[in-house]
Amino acid sequence: MRDPESITVNDDARLIPMWSIIVATTAFVLVEYYFWMVLPKGRTSAPPPLGFRIYFNLSWGLLAALYFLMVGYVSKDAPRRAMSSRFWIAICFVMPGGIGAVLYFLLRQPVISRCPACSTHVQSDFHFCPQCNYRLAANCGNCFRTVRATDQFCTRCGHELSRDQMPARLRVLGE
Ligand SMILES: [Zn+2]
Ligand SMILES: [Zn+2]
Repeated sequence: MRDPESITVNDDARLIPMWSIIVATTAFVLVEYYFWMVLPKGRTSAPPPLGFRIYFNLSWGLLAALYFLMVGYVSKDAPRRAMSSRFWIAICFVMPGGIGAVLYFLLRQPVISRCPACSTHVQSDFHFCPQCNYRLAANCGNCFRTVRATDQFCTRCGHELSRDQMPARLRVLGE
């Protein structure tokens, strides 16, 4: 966890940055160029069927492009979760076959946002703001799990939500 003040919160920013789209496109073009133009020249035996070559060459090109899109996505998504983007980009590059990306999705933290009342950084799974006690999500008055604002009963314990005094879900609805 880094110092909360150093987290840049930018909710509407694109999650796949332009540079990674450009790099991914370039990688795709380079891979296609290699497989269609460079590789056949060194081939001594008869080439495999055309359908197979199209499938094979496109697959490798898309895989290379996906790799760079993934790194771009991690570089944008990690800061939203107070995770080190440099560390995770390095992991994505070092781990072979996309294992780094899989690890990232398994281990990533909840998105950090701001409390509407006092602008403290809060995680998406918080029910209350840790600084001002603002209710961030509608929850059940019995088991305190998150419920949807339109629910009549808690999906976990069956508690009748309309019996909660000044129900949080109604306040959420009114906003
Ligand atoms: Zn607050
Ligand atoms: Zn409940």
